[in-house]
Amino acid sequence: MTDDRQDKEKVLQLPEEMRDVPREVRNVLQPSPLGPESRLKFRCHKGVSCFNACCSHIDIVLTPYDMIRLRQRLGITPEAFLYEFAEPSTLTKGQLPVALLAMDKQTGRCPFNTPEGCSVYEDRPVTCRYYPIGMALMHRQEASRNEEFFVLIKEDYCKGHEEPKEWSVAEWRADQGADLYDAENREWFDIIVKRRSAGDMVKSSLPLSEFFYMASTNPDEMRRFVFQSSFLKRYTVDEATVAAIREDDAALTRFAFRWMSSAMFGEEGAVAVRPEAVQEARERRAAKAHAAALERVARAERGEADAYPPVDEEDEEERQG
Ligand code: SF4
Ligand code: SF4
Repeated sequence: MTDDRQDKEKVLQLPEEMRDVPREVRNVLQPSPLGPESRLKFRCHKGVSCFNACCSHIDIVLTPYDMIRLRQRLGITPEAFLYEFAEPSTLTKGQLPVALLAMDKQTGRCPFNTPEGCSVYEDRPVTCRYYPIGMALMHRQEASRNEEFFVLIKEDYCKGHEEPKEWSVAEWRADQGADLYDAENREWFDIIVKRRSAGDMVKSSLPLSEFFYMASTNPDEMRRFVFQSSFLKRYTVDEATVAAIREDDAALTRFAFRWMSSAMFGEEGAVAVRPEAVQEARERRAAKAHAAALERVARAERGEADAYPPVDEEDEEERQG
């Protein structure tokens, strides 16, 4: 069988949401999807001959909670973190902007990798926690929650697969602390999955990409937007939430994605527009239409030829039959 044919067959065996990963990544994914109770043999420790081999030349998408934990550990601002440790990228499907963990330009190694292992181990990103498992989410219209899929990643150099220790996927996730990260990132994942399913169907006056990147990477900027603009006049936000998002970056981040979900995908109940703000917006639109109508009449009375919008003659003939 040719390489191309083998590759196509492999793509079809993967969960749909994992089919658009680059070919070199696909090559190390085991085709059968795993569920929470699927079993794997794996252990990583300092004694393996490949120790540290996996911490270089990798694309690690930083989730919002990854960055919150890393910033807290390093004691630096969001701007300093982005400058020193991140580089911008875009998710293939859905075209949303994300931050990747920047590898060292000279060595290609992760900046947190040391001869003794990971220097930020307790706060390492969720991708590092999951390894050697890859996780994808899929949104079904009829389901209230996204469905999770897992695949085993098997790279030749990784000797952890030869260790006898056995786990279920659920046990591995809990052991690595990935559950907490998934819970904190749920709203972020939700937007990615919905955007991927809806594609260009999403029409909104909200510049999703800018807000998505701001909320993902920079809670200081997001907080300025919420508290220093007319945001709290426009949206109903209860007092407990206002108090939480004023102080707590994780609460603010979850809130920001819930707001985007309401604004972009019309989800009710997440962050509602105040009734008076809706009425004000209607009145503003009516006033604008009224002013435009008066302007058109005035221009027509002055004999201006383009006072009214042009009518396509063919369409008009068709309409009149
Ligand atoms: S390559 Fe595998 S076993 Fe080796 S250090 Fe990395 S995760 Fe552990
Ligand atoms: S953050 Fe830690 S575990 Fe993840 S790639 Fe860097 S050194 Fe390795």
